[in-house]
Amino acid sequence: MEFKFFMPTKIFLGIGCVAQNKNEFTHLGKRALIVTGRNSAMASGALLDITTVLEDQKIAWELFDQIEENPTFAAVEAGGDAARRFKPDMIIAIGGGSPLDAAKAIAVLAVNFIRASELYKGGFHAAPLPIVAIPLTAGTGSEVTPYSILTDTEKQTKRSFSDPQIFPVVAFLDARYTQTQSRDVTVNTAVDALSHAIEGYMSKRSTLVSDCLALEAIRSFGKVRKALSLGSFNLTDREELLYASLLGGIVIAQTGTTAVHALGYSLTYFYQVPHGRANGLLLGEYLRFNEPVVPEKVSAVLAALGLKTVNDIKELLVELLPSSEVYTEQELQKFVSIASETANIVNTPRQPNKEDLYQLLKDSLSVNGQ
Ligand code: NAP
Ligand code: FE
Repeated sequence: MEFKFFMPTKIFLGIGCVAQNKNEFTHLGKRALIVTGRNSAMASGALLDITTVLEDQKIAWELFDQIEENPTFAAVEAGGDAARRFKPDMIIAIGGGSPLDAAKAIAVLAVNFIRASELYKGGFHAAPLPIVAIPLTAGTGSEVTPYSILTDTEKQTKRSFSDPQIFPVVAFLDARYTQTQSRDVTVNTAVDALSHAIEGYMSKRSTLVSDCLALEAIRSFGKVRKALSLGSFNLTDREELLYASLLGGIVIAQTGTTAVHALGYSLTYFYQVPHGRANGLLLGEYLRFNEPVVPEKVSAVLAALGLKTVNDIKELLVELLPSSEVYTEQELQKFVSIASETANIVNTPRQPNKEDLYQLLKDSLSVNGQ
């Protein structure tokens, strides 16, 4: 037996957890920069809850609400500038994975005079500001990972930088904040959580502990399968999804993601396919591809979902994510070359070569052959 497990984030999950734990902000300092997207922080009620607590605790705050989906280098550099002007002691991230990831970059840029492209070099001169994370989607688990995924227009892909210092110090998970998600955002992000749990469970870097958490995350997703199919969610379903997403994040913080995420980034970059949906389109064939080398793991995934065969999970994903995009064979070749350069591809249990990746895409997507 041999493993390492590192997860330094203090986690609060429950209705009203922000207001019930206001002291968590006080010892982080006197000034907070809040990083969000344009609408959902306000619409979900999370922003009001946080600012009420900050004012109660006499913490000055400023809002940077310019983060769009799939944050760019320009967006996080603008956030870094805002932080250098305001000089906060902490960064409070409220949002889906995009604002959470952007906030991690901003926490570094606030105290290091570097370009966003230099975040990938690591070894920061000054320690990033502490981050408090409040997820508004139940999907990425970014509130408990050391990853920030940014869009690199030069390399034409999404790229992750990783550093233990960008693990949020505190995460508040209140399912009420996820209630304003549309059906599509809910389903896409839930499938991202499932993808983290499955990829993490199958990753070459998985451990005994990460496997326990991954199977629990998959079971938890299985409990809300019906609600996901119906597209109708009560607060208990929302809380279950938030729990599954949290566990999925803790898992990939240990194991990394694999070929599904590596390939999915191109669907998002070139076709604006939402991140979770991109993963979900590929997940069924990914399980089929890996089944010969890890049959017991594939069986355990299916059992945790209450399913029997890989075809069953594919059917479920087709039902949740009806297909719409059509790709050309040339585009698939391009996606394969980009994915082959990513670091996460090596975590895949059955090492795929370029033909394997091409076949996986072809079997998963609609292709028009031109
Ligand atoms: P997102 O890109 O953060 O948000 C998608 C959309 O949903 C936005 O329009 C957002 O609106 C809206 N939204 C979010 N929460 C809402 C709510 N409660 N009510 C209503 N609308 C809401 O989506 P995401 O799937 O959570 O994040 C995807 C990003 O995370 C990708 O860049 C992906 O690469 C990254 N990711 C990171 C990790 C990691 O470990 N760091 C893991 C997986 C994925 P607003 O713009 O108004 O907020
Ligand atoms: Fe993901």
